[in-house]
Amino acid sequence: MPLGLYISVPFCRSKCSYCNFASDVFSRAVFQRYVDRVCADIKNASRTAEQMAGRFERTVDSVYLGGGTPTILDITQLERLFVTISQNLELLPDTEITVECAPGTLTPAVLEALQRCEVNRVSLGVQSFVDTEAASVGRLHKRATVVDDIARLRAAGISNVNIDLIAGLPHQTQESWEFSLAESLASGVPHASVYMLEVDAGRGSRIWALAWMRTRCWRRMGTSRTGEGARRTQEGTTLCTLGTTT
Ligand code: SF4
Repeated sequence: MPLGLYISVPFCRSKCSYCNFASDVFSRAVFQRYVDRVCADIKNASRTAEQMAGRFERTVDSVYLGGGTPTILDITQLERLFVTISQNLELLPDTEITVECAPGTLTPAVLEALQRCEVNRVSLGVQSFVDTEAASVGRLHKRATVVDDIARLRAAGISNVNIDLIAGLPHQTQESWEFSLAESLASGVPHASVYMLEVDAGRGSRIWALAWMRTRCWRRMGTSRTGEGARRTQEGTTLCTLGTTT
């Protein structure tokens, strides 16, 4: 049976306040050491399996580069991962090759590298199409960035795009949530994943305090708001209560 290969790249531009993943902000020197180690592990996978009295299946039908934010690696590091995979594993002809991408990290150079690496699916961490909501939990992109990223992916021949959304974000209202859903449908992407915001007992007040501070900064900076949903949210802000989130 073919393998599904998942590689985590645990580096991000900033740490989102809701995020429980093993990911954080690190120096670029750490990126190189991590990529070196992952490549060594891929090369040694057969031997490692033998040492554990197992057998390593070299055939692969899906590759997923997740995170974290794989698209903040240097181009050479990104390509080295894929070269190591293709040199040491046997990718079946229809292998789905996915890379997770934070909107705004898809530079022209990264997009070209994804094409060279034959990436055929991209998962965008959108979370919300309402700028205030995204900013309140530490996301660095705006709605316009997402729309632009999707258009450039399509133009580059990568139309299999997933977008992640979070329900229950600070400042989210029923109207603003419906706006994000409508924008998702209008974007024409074939898949969207919806997650509920999970708030554990120790972090709930921190998430909302950070959301309050970030929203104040965002407004003071006079950032232009994009989209009808952002205006609606501004008029009718309703904070989700902890009891309605899981
Ligand atoms: S970009 Fe993703 S992995 Fe990184 S901190 Fe935010 S939610 Fe977590």
